[in-house]
Amino acid sequence: MSKSPSASPEFSVREFFTRFPDEAACLNHIMSVRFGGATMDCPSCGVEGEFHKLRDRRVYACPHCLFQIAPTANTILHDTRTPLVSWFYAMYLFCTTRHGVSGKELQRQLGVTYKTAYRMGQQIRTLMQKADHFDGLLTGHIEMDEAYVGGKSKGGKRGRGAPGKTIVVGMAQRDGRFSAQVIPDVKKDTLRKVVQENVAPGSVVSTDELMSYGLLAGDGFTHGKVKHGKCEFSKSEGGVSFHVNTVEGFWRLFKASVRSTHVHISKQHMQRYLDEFTFRANHRQRVNGMFDLLVGAL
Ligand SMILES: [Zn+2]
Repeated sequence: MSKSPSASPEFSVREFFTRFPDEAACLNHIMSVRFGGATMDCPSCGVEGEFHKLRDRRVYACPHCLFQIAPTANTILHDTRTPLVSWFYAMYLFCTTRHGVSGKELQRQLGVTYKTAYRMGQQIRTLMQKADHFDGLLTGHIEMDEAYVGGKSKGGKRGRGAPGKTIVVGMAQRDGRFSAQVIPDVKKDTLRKVVQENVAPGSVVSTDELMSYGLLAGDGFTHGKVKHGKCEFSKSEGGVSFHVNTVEGFWRLFKASVRSTHVHISKQHMQRYLDEFTFRANHRQRVNGMFDLLVGAL
């Protein structure tokens, strides 16, 4: 590979199949990402050499002592009977979509059973969570906003009180990372804990009226609140613009996607889907790089 695969912000289908035309290309890529390529000091005999791929097996062998390395060992791809190209293409679809990829869609695109497609989707979501793992705290100015997702709206209540809704909360660092999680309720202590666990002390936090005044200030945060109930969506105080528009945009996309692509997501599976959408939001500038991150997290 002469040019960096991550150099381009776009990643066309054509580009994808040029990079990954067959099984060998995919396996070779995994070998590069996980072992730095096929040329290495053999972990067994210690001699440097170019490992060669064994015919019909996902295995490379040392040219000197025949010690074998399986690039897919200890990954979700290890025992899969689904072709690696299909897995790669599924990951590609997850990186390039905006509204997510349903099991049905994967089934159609890959020609596998629905059960296989569904499992692949769930494993790719887990991979996205792994690839996006972040131990640090959000800093600077953080927007925080909760949302109510899923549940039945048929002829009944909508919004907060509707049955079966999952409560989620999102946090966006202005010009930075985004994170989202399922929360059990919107009680003061729950919200406060979310902030304490995710936001660096001393940061500025924008919320809507759900978060009471004083609660965060007591913890050393600067807190600004917009009153959505009174149609206030942004306000300036001391040169700081308080609003939660970034997070609201995320929830709008997420809810629309759940309705259109997935129809319904149970509370039990919600976090996986949040991880998927968060991963894309955090890496949206580099679709190509997003794909490489995923393979790197295998
Ligand atoms: Zn060897």
